Amino acid sequence: MVACAGMPMAPSNLLSQILLMRTEQWLNPAELERRQWSRFQRVLRHAYDNSPFYARRFRDAGIIPGDIRDRADLSRIPIVTRRELRHPEELVPDSYDPARMKESFSSGSTGESVRTYFDSNAWRLGKHLLKLRARWACGVRPWDRAALIQAGDFSNSEFRRRILRQQSFSVHGPVKESLLELREFAPTVLYGFPTHFSELAEICNQDITPKCIFTSGEMLEDGTRRKIGNAFGAPVYDIYGSTELKEIAWECPRRDGYHINSDWVLVESVGEHDTIVVTSLYNYGMPLIRYELGDTGKLLDGLCRCGRSLPLMAPGVGRSVDYFQLPDGSRVSPYTLVNNVEVLPEIRQFQILQDTPDRVVVLVVPGPDYGDGSAERIRGAISDDLPGITIDTRCVDEIAREPSGKFRKVLSDLPRDESKT
Ligand SMILES: [Zn+2]
Repeated sequence: MVACAGMPMAPSNLLSQILLMRTEQWLNPAELERRQWSRFQRVLRHAYDNSPFYARRFRDAGIIPGDIRDRADLSRIPIVTRRELRHPEELVPDSYDPARMKESFSSGSTGESVRTYFDSNAWRLGKHLLKLRARWACGVRPWDRAALIQAGDFSNSEFRRRILRQQSFSVHGPVKESLLELREFAPTVLYGFPTHFSELAEICNQDITPKCIFTSGEMLEDGTRRKIGNAFGAPVYDIYGSTELKEIAWECPRRDGYHINSDWVLVESVGEHDTIVVTSLYNYGMPLIRYELGDTGKLLDGLCRCGRSLPLMAPGVGRSVDYFQLPDGSRVSPYTLVNNVEVLPEIRQFQILQDTPDRVVVLVVPGPDYGDGSAERIRGAISDDLPGITIDTRCVDEIAREPSGKFRKVLSDLPRDESKT
């Protein structure tokens, strides 16, 4: 990698980076915001000067970096969509060589895969240091034994097992086997998908006794959080992130919201559907400026009771592409639908799918109490929110996870109108 003028804006020394990160979470909010904005302007200038992709976009939008003077000007910068990352090399500045950079893949629920390149400084910061800060805040220490339950990356190297004390386990396959493997490893910290822990919670019988559990990748509803927390006897902390940006926001033990890593990520919630748009302030190797993740969420006012000045957000219930469309053209957030079905005790697992403009199908894995009136209760739980739409229910033995390991509680097969997000 060729060093680039103006970079890095973080100290390159590891210890200095750790100290800076530790300090910045406690800065007064105005100072933290000032630093964030300064980093934003620097990455904007870097992208404009060095990435042909951004130079062209800014020119087409009739702007130069100097035009973006404060947050009110952000909307003048065009949003980058996931579709535009099909050729990620186009975003990489000429002075960086993709072949020599770290990269992350995301398979994507609709089949399109996305590759993101990271310069070495960005990789260290995004992949390791931001996580370290957040986990430390929740009580994780280097001597903890961490089980990572995921879809890929089973590189259980010596370094990983002995030094990091981590081990990966597959989210695919029978949950009973998963429990046996975990019991043998005896983790003190668990990482994984909420739906997987929810399944484990039904059979774990206190076989595993972690001191805390971290979830990510799916929405964590209150009921699921309680179920997991009670079954394992440990607090559950959720993390909001993406392959392209790594961790964006996380819960501390106060759980007043999700702390945004605002020193290194700028998060916006835009439009009537609260679409999340993010900017990486540290990845100079592949600048992502105003990148639309395809999620929804809100920025929250006020600070967390823990005293950290990292601002708070509340991720939404799912991807903006999975909003349901009504025949009159309006859109329904999946949030209400999921919450209303979630509370029905006779359902073990479900997935709500809109397959045509006027039909929604609820796939159900029935629990022991599922009976004659259950289908009607499911329809009744969501029919008020879906006027003009036929609701069918269908019992199945199981609902498959996506190859990424995620479980989608809501899905829309309808073509998406990007202009509405
Ligand atoms: Zn906090």
